Amino acid sequence: MSNINSLSSQPEPIHIGIIGGGIAGSTIALHLAELNIKVTLIEKGPSLVNGPPICHLHAGGNLYREISEQQCITLLRQSIDTLKLYKHSANIRPTVVAIPKSDKGNPDNLIPRLEKLKSEYAQLITQDASNQVLGPAEDYFALYTKSKLAKLAKKALPKEAKTLDDWMIPVAKNLDFDATKFPLVLVQEYGLSAFRLAATAILATEKLKNCQVLTNTKVTNIKAIENRWLLKTENNESINVDYLINACGFKTGEIDDMLILKRKRMVEFKAAYITHWQQCEGQWPEVIFYGERGTPQGMAQLTPYANGYFQLHGMTQDITLFKNGLVSTTNNSAQPQLEQRFINKIDHAWQADNVYTRTNKSISHMSQFLPSFSSAKMGGSPLFGAQQIPGDDADLRAADVTFSGNNYARAEIVKASSAIDGANLIVNKLVEVGLLNSSILQQAPPYEITSSLNQSEVTSLAIKLAKQRNYPIDLAKVVGQS
Ligand SMILES: Cc1cc2nc3c(=O)[nH]c(=O)nc-3n(C[C@H](O)[C@H](O)[C@H](O)COP(=O)(O)OP(=O)(O)OC[C@H]3O[C@@H](n4cnc5c(N)ncnc54)[C@H](O)[C@@H]3O)c2cc1C
Repeated sequence: MSNINSLSSQPEPIHIGIIGGGIAGSTIALHLAELNIKVTLIEKGPSLVNGPPICHLHAGGNLYREISEQQCITLLRQSIDTLKLYKHSANIRPTVVAIPKSDKGNPDNLIPRLEKLKSEYAQLITQDASNQVLGPAEDYFALYTKSKLAKLAKKALPKEAKTLDDWMIPVAKNLDFDATKFPLVLVQEYGLSAFRLAATAILATEKLKNCQVLTNTKVTNIKAIENRWLLKTENNESINVDYLINACGFKTGEIDDMLILKRKRMVEFKAAYITHWQQCEGQWPEVIFYGERGTPQGMAQLTPYANGYFQLHGMTQDITLFKNGLVSTTNNSAQPQLEQRFINKIDHAWQADNVYTRTNKSISHMSQFLPSFSSAKMGGSPLFGAQQIPGDDADLRAADVTFSGNNYARAEIVKASSAIDGANLIVNKLVEVGLLNSSILQQAPPYEITSSLNQSEVTSLAIKLAKQRNYPIDLAKVVGQS
């Protein structure tokens, strides 16, 4: 590649190969293509963004008590960028956080971190008014005492939740007041629709002239030839690229192994369950009950979708988590090895009786706090998969990309919202190694093509994808405020 040696002149146009069309690879592809860089995105599956579930935006990391304040601030900033890029993929409804009586936590201890996040959000709005995508900063969070909630429980359910109090009414009417400590927290943590993210990525990459997407194409071999890469696919195609981005999700280690690169990481298999609550009334926020991960009291999460569909997580070994579901790399390989029973679930299917048992356990877990939820029934197949966590800290939630040499990057995101930071860091690196002119750093990508998509085209493709993937179409529809 002569351009590395000719830093004073304009670098020659480069061709970037991205392996893996999950949210990381797709976001990086559309970011680069929006900057007029030639990209080939290679995905072994039939469509983009079809990996493990993505249901929460994590705008402040409030679903995790155990993570550092710095990770929360990073997730807040990254989530704001994500809402601006994927503007039709958010389910705009707040999250209610409660601490069960059985838990050793104290709600007052949550307040300093919430205050810090609120002031960070206010500062981001001061820097750029377009950052105000989570409502006004003063409404970032609110506290609800027992007496305030008791009053709200007597109010009629509004047709549409317009105020913070409106969102609390269904919770107040259904909560077992003896099961939680007070105050409860309401925070502007929104939902994300994986189907609308997928639809956005598909529609935008189709429109971007510089972006070639190869689906049903698995990379099986990689050779370094001078300063370029020759990728070989299962179908015996050859693809030459100047720069390679490994965005293979929980299989990132397989590509590292092909290149004989050492890297420490973990992989975790997890699942969330789809339920239908016929008797549900009112417009629901997300509701989470904190708990100690991996114990029978693990956190319970209720995520609302359209028309009475709810997704449940229960951070216990017999609901969301699995015995031996978290594995690490060994000295011989950068790819952690999940037991075959997990790979069978990912590549084929779950046994129906196992799905039924775990879904019912998730309903019982939630009914400890919302007794009327016990009438909910299984509403579809679980959302599940394996995700990678770089390094050896299983609590890491904000991670982006790492580099090896001058022409290889790997995306190692834990949360979808970190993908844009990953893309920006790759552009910086391409400038640093002389493959792109530094003038590109002045062009914040305007995301001209992605921004031109409208809500109805995104939602209508998202509904088609939900059908194709055998999920209720209500998971693809917009909930909350549009
Ligand atoms: C139960 C559960 C709930 C979750 N909830 C959330 C949430 O609410 N919010 C959130 O932000 N995150 C959530 N996550 C995490 C999130 O799903 C992942 O971190 C995210 O999907 C990772 O995206 P990715 O693009 O890195 O990987 P993936 O989505 O796994 O994409 C990698 C892609 O690479 C492809 N690939 C692999 N090998 C090859 C090859 N050799 N050739 C071609 N293609 C290849 C795969 O087919 C795949 O499509 C959750 C995870 C789980 C398991």
